Amino acid sequence: MPCCPSCTSKQTVKNGHIHTGKQRYLCRTYGRQFVEDPTNKIIDTETRELVDRLLLERISMAGIARAVQVSEQ
Ligand SMILES: [Zn+2]
Repeated sequence: MPCCPSCTSKQTVKNGHIHTGKQRYLCRTYGRQFVEDPTNKIIDTETRELVDRLLLERISMAGIARAVQVSEQ
């Protein structure tokens, strides 16, 4: 289960789907519902370090984002 985006609790359960078919989750800590957003996923340390190295090579942010398949943000 993904972490709750509000309180980062891992006490989350599947709670049906939204109209676009995305999985909806319910945070059991605060009762908050959220939808997993693949464009806003946590970037792991390895990818972060890779991006840092690429930035040092003066590669554009957009190019890096495409290369490592993460959003520019
Ligand atoms: Zn929560």
